[in-house]
Amino acid sequence: MYEISMIRGDGIGPDLADSASSVLGAMGKLGVEFKIIPLDAGDESLKKTGRALSDNVISAVQRSDACLKAPVGESAADVIVVLRRTLDLYANIRPAKSYPGMGSLRDDIDMVIVRENTEDLYAGKEFDLGDAAVALRIISKAASERIARYAFETAKRRDGAKKVTCVHKSNVMRITDGLFSSVCSQVAKDYDVSFEEMYVDACAMNLIRQPEKFDVIVTTNLFGDILSDESSQIVGGLGMAPAANIGDDFALFEPVHGAAFDIAGLHIANPSSFLLSIKMMCDWLGAKHGDDACIKAGIRLESVIFNLVKSGVKTRDIGGDQSTAQFTQRVVDAL
Ligand code: ATP
Repeated sequence: MYEISMIRGDGIGPDLADSASSVLGAMGKLGVEFKIIPLDAGDESLKKTGRALSDNVISAVQRSDACLKAPVGESAADVIVVLRRTLDLYANIRPAKSYPGMGSLRDDIDMVIVRENTEDLYAGKEFDLGDAAVALRIISKAASERIARYAFETAKRRDGAKKVTCVHKSNVMRITDGLFSSVCSQVAKDYDVSFEEMYVDACAMNLIRQPEKFDVIVTTNLFGDILSDESSQIVGGLGMAPAANIGDDFALFEPVHGAAFDIAGLHIANPSSFLLSIKMMCDWLGAKHGDDACIKAGIRLESVIFNLVKSGVKTRDIGGDQSTAQFTQRVVDAL
């Protein structure tokens, strides 16, 4: 039995957490058992306790086998950024794959964005100088090499074109992105995987123009955040977009999107982003523990979701009429 810490989050977070709990329960039928440890972190926790992320929650997450985190609202940076740093979850993995019935731009998109998760402008080194404000952009050789290797290992394992595209803006940020680019090119020499470089503005354009050409994109923190929201839109939107934050010993899985306050309380959120995060968690747990049943259960979950969507059982964001609870029940029944 795997112990899964689950942060319930804000906005649509609790609805997604309920959906994920039902689905994890139903996965028992597939031979993999999960015990859920519910945890509070985020805006509600900040209001109640004065802290968005307490030490107790961090310890509970660390004691678990993996963490599922529903989206957090305004205090997101105090939760996810701290967890990523504390647990050294250096690789943020965001797949984008087209499936029938999802309104994808094309039907042959299958890429993954590997985003460096610990430094860049998101390290939060900002300074108020009165009439000006300054942010430090930190790019280190060690972190660049670690994420580059992760990207090449990912490309090696995938069935795709076995290509890594390193995305940066080294023609302008010559020192920081110059370092990132040169480290990626150096790492490329160790792999039998094709390698190309692309400026971030060209990448933003090519994601729309010819998204089928991408296999694995490796990039820095801020660019990765933006490009992965874009890549989610070309394959059906944020409601279908899962993500993983992976370190050497621990991993946390979450939707790409935020707390979506505009639809909070309406019970219409698409839970697939979080359910597909469970699929990513099963891959990771299965690989870590040599547990084939866990990997197969994740694959089954993914195919259940996509068969439902293909047959027109969808939430509103992708053109259907199912509520969060109705769609969840269909997934549970199919499992
Ligand atoms: P953040 O900056 O925290 O990532 P954001 O400002 O990008 O948040 P989101 O909360 O990610 O905003 O939502 C962006 C849009 O996508 C909103 O209109 C929201 O309703 C929609 N959306 C996000 N997630 C879902 C979902 N699971 N189901 C349906 N619609 C969603």
